[in-house]
Amino acid sequence: MNRQNADPEAARLAALHRCGIFQTPAEQDFDFLTRLAAEICQVPYAFVTFVDQDYVWAKAWHGVEKIAPAARCDDYCDFVIRSGQPLVVHDLCSDPRTASMPPTLDGFRRYAGVPLLTADQQAIGTLCVLDKRAGSPNDHQLELLQSLARQVMALVELRQHKRELEANVHLLERLATTDELTGLMNRRRLMERLSEECARARRFKEPMALVLLDLDHFKQVNDQWGHATGDIVLANTGRLIRETLRETDSAGRYGGEELCLLLPHTELDGAATVADTLCGRLATRSHRTAGAPEYVTASLGVAASSHLEQCHPATLLAQADAALYRAKDNGRNCVVVAQEALA
Ligand code: GH3
Ligand code: MG
Ligand code: MG
Repeated sequence: MNRQNADPEAARLAALHRCGIFQTPAEQDFDFLTRLAAEICQVPYAFVTFVDQDYVWAKAWHGVEKIAPAARCDDYCDFVIRSGQPLVVHDLCSDPRTASMPPTLDGFRRYAGVPLLTADQQAIGTLCVLDKRAGSPNDHQLELLQSLARQVMALVELRQHKRELEANVHLLERLATTDELTGLMNRRRLMERLSEECARARRFKEPMALVLLDLDHFKQVNDQWGHATGDIVLANTGRLIRETLRETDSAGRYGGEELCLLLPHTELDGAATVADTLCGRLATRSHRTAGAPEYVTASLGVAASSHLEQCHPATLLAQADAALYRAKDNGRNCVVVAQEALA
């Protein structure tokens, strides 16, 4: 026996949840189908409802201003959900199935509801029509009501596919712009972002800083401990950078074991402080796993647009690179700012 057979209500609720329709805002397409249902059955009131564990909730309604969720036990739609079949009640007040139920606020007498069925035949809601006068739809009207219910479900599935598609696009976008190893932006995205940030800094005359970080003696790490260990150190470095940066800052893999930080709205002093913090944290970050070196340091070069004629990617990168070169020259595990590099 599978789980679905074991608990049909759980399977039904799971199907409802998958659709992602419950308690979503009103939508014109659903309103239109609801109005059509009322017109086909020649009654003033129609509803598209979805039913969760406790409530009957209307996604669309016609003929009333607004409708509050109703407890399942007090609502006629629950019969349709439980049977998965259409329900026609000529007079709610005298029908033995409904006469003992509390009267509706609107004084409805006639009810006809058809289930909204998912592809795997789970009744997740209803399309129903009501009137304050007793009566029943004819066979043709009931048949059309069922066709309309299929249209409602087609709409639900369309929305669901659209959501899934959007989620996939989002995921693909993230994969296409993220460096797998460090979790930072890949080089292509980094260069795009650098151009965008520089353009913004020029336009709004705001400061902008850039830091280049290069791991020290990384070739030795690979040679001595193996390339896989080198990868772990790089991944740890990426994580540490992500933990250290502010939300408005960003970082990417410039190439190999060289990483780049973009710090918008930041002067040279501020960027030097960030670089110092990072340098210190890296030097004391233990990488010790099975067979990894305990510590790996980095050298950092800092540049800022406030010390340049114009904020341009190539100039910022060249200045930071020169500063990084000086940091290596100064013995590594240190920060050099562009001004000092020029001195
Ligand atoms: P320096 O302190 O002067 O920067 O010395 P270094 O050894 O770090 O510099 P070098 O440029 O000689 O070596 C960089 C090394 O980084 C060599 C390369 O194999 C390694 N590397 C680049 N990308 C990766 C990677 O994705 N994974 C691993 N494990 N190593 C990488
Ligand atoms: Mg290096
Ligand atoms: Mg390097």
